Amino acid sequence: MTVVPARAQDLPEALVLPLASGAPWWYWLGGRPALDFANTLRERWRRRVECLVTPDDLSRWLVAAGLAGHEPAVSPSLLGEARELREAIDAAVAATLAGAPVPPAAIACIDDWLGHAGTRPRLALGQGGVPVLGERIPADSARRALGTIALDAAAMLGTPAERARIRICASDTCSARFYDRSAAGRRRWCSMTACGNEAKARRHRARSRSAAEAAEVSA
Ligand SMILES: [Zn+2]
Repeated sequence: MTVVPARAQDLPEALVLPLASGAPWWYWLGGRPALDFANTLRERWRRRVECLVTPDDLSRWLVAAGLAGHEPAVSPSLLGEARELREAIDAAVAATLAGAPVPPAAIACIDDWLGHAGTRPRLALGQGGVPVLGERIPADSARRALGTIALDAAAMLGTPAERARIRICASDTCSARFYDRSAAGRRRWCSMTACGNEAKARRHRARSRSAAEAAEVSA
């Protein structure tokens, strides 16, 4: 009997879907905000586990990702728009990796969000009547955070050297998107300690098995 070990990076089989909240399954190995965001829909090859389940999930995710200082207000319709942005980023990533043209709708969606990126300057009077250059508090900080994600995606997709470092984990059960920051640019797994080790162990088992079979044949 072949024992299939639990892979640290994989979701448990026993998940009750849809999740009440995706927070326990957020995944931070993407290497940049746009890919961490794409990875909030997990196990894309099979169960497509939604990890931004509620507006509150998105609000907390944006803080956990360092894109908002406090939990911003998120409406159910904004959650829907955020998921559209996420799927546009993922469609662009998948097309890029497949060497296929990126769907125009994906580009248009990411581009639309760029209008919310960035800060707006503000000149105020400080102590003693001294002018102080600062920034305006965004009217909608959740939208601004999503704009920051879109800007990260745009920089990654629109810059050839960055585009060439987008990866999907080579584990056949993981499907995580990640950004390869290794010097050689040959990283294959989202995490060497989980998916990478698992792949090594699997190769080792396969080698031992074929060695054992060869021994049986020659005996
Ligand atoms: Zn992986």
